[in-house]
Amino acid sequence: MSDASKGLSLYNTLTRTKDAFVPIDAGNVRMYVCGPTVYDFAHIGNARPAIVFDVLFRLLRHVYGEAHVTYVRNITDVDDKINARALRDFGAEIASGKLTLNEAIRRVTEKTADQYHKDVAALGCLPPTVEPRATEFVARRADGKADMISLIERLIERGHAYVAAGEVLFDTASMPDYGELSKRNLDEQQAGARIAVDAHKKNPGDFVLWKLSSPEEPGWDSPWGRGRPGWHIECSAMSAAYLGDVFDIHGGGLDLIFPHHENEIAQSRCAHGTDVMANVWMHNGFLQVEGQKMSKSLGNFYAIAELLETDTFGGRKWPGEVLRLAMLMTHYREPIDFSVRKLEEAENTLRKWKRAADLAPAAGQVPAEVVAALSDDLATYAAFQQLTQLAGEAADGNEAAASLKASLLFLGFDVGAAKVDEAAVAKAIAKRLELIAAKNWAEADRVRDELLAQGVQLKDGKDPATGERITTWEVKR
Ligand SMILES: [Zn+2]
Repeated sequence: MSDASKGLSLYNTLTRTKDAFVPIDAGNVRMYVCGPTVYDFAHIGNARPAIVFDVLFRLLRHVYGEAHVTYVRNITDVDDKINARALRDFGAEIASGKLTLNEAIRRVTEKTADQYHKDVAALGCLPPTVEPRATEFVARRADGKADMISLIERLIERGHAYVAAGEVLFDTASMPDYGELSKRNLDEQQAGARIAVDAHKKNPGDFVLWKLSSPEEPGWDSPWGRGRPGWHIECSAMSAAYLGDVFDIHGGGLDLIFPHHENEIAQSRCAHGTDVMANVWMHNGFLQVEGQKMSKSLGNFYAIAELLETDTFGGRKWPGEVLRLAMLMTHYREPIDFSVRKLEEAENTLRKWKRAADLAPAAGQVPAEVVAALSDDLATYAAFQQLTQLAGEAADGNEAAASLKASLLFLGFDVGAAKVDEAAVAKAIAKRLELIAAKNWAEADRVRDELLAQGVQLKDGKDPATGERITTWEVKR
């Protein structure tokens, strides 16, 4: 293995091979993962990519240094499902003029995004470096970062998109290797398409970049009229905004390969004139519940928050770290069967590991074997075998116990070893209060979530004497 790869190899959906990973710039390793659409609570299927790519983020930070990895995970806060939810939940307020549609949408997305942050923090996930919201990248930006409308304009200029029946569509025939990620060929798609529905499209596989909005729908002014973006263009804009035209790793669930990732690739490559959008494409496998596909009609549809806070799954609540371990006991590319038995197994394993790790007064070094296992396309089960071995060797104050403690912390499990640095917490709280005063909510939330990931939970209140905002904190176990 060459030195440039630092021993890291990853399976690439684009090439269908496992290759040595060499970043474009080892000083700034760049990863994008498609985040949640914030119209409803995230379900445990959504938890899988959050956890899997958190492990990869931790590994990259370990290998390249914390300051040398940029992880972008977006929030999709423009979507017809969100509009529908806003109308369902706030229809009366909108009708009576108490709320505008945009205000109602904001309520839905803020509440859901907040819940998502709580869920993934409970699952031991670090906040990504940047968490951009789609609605902030539709129109041209004051800071000159990439935006959706400019990207669409460029696609039209370059002959890759056209206007028809009030929509802007991507012309799939303009891209000779369209379909390279999903290995679908265009002729097959055309044969299977229903022509009548799509009479305005040049090719049946052409997809929407922009569509017009009715006055009741949210919209932005554009050269093609007041409208809103199609689903795929947001990720092309937000990845370019923070990671550049070509970056290292793009991740998401297997279900996103087609059409979402295929179309992201088409848009980004054709707009920027590049051979690839990201060098490595990584996809986590499907998730089933007790041997069945998760669906609302089968009644086996579980929100992350339900597993954490109610007894609907297996008659009890489950700690976030048990869900995390259960998820990682299966290799990320394999399908996973999420079951009560699996959670019980994870809980028992975690209890043994923690008891052994408690024999160490402080964390030692993460053993090279653990890093090597993860470096082989995130072979978490092989890393866990190392942890079990360390647990067997652990004794009062010995190195195995200290290594185990370090490994658990590295993998995102709370072993109570993180001695809270009170001065650092106080500094972070002061910074957050400054951000709140400046109405920079996104950054303020990030500071809060980062502390939560370290087990420090903030509590906001008012000083009864002065009425000023005060923040206290406690360590969550
Ligand atoms: Zn995406």
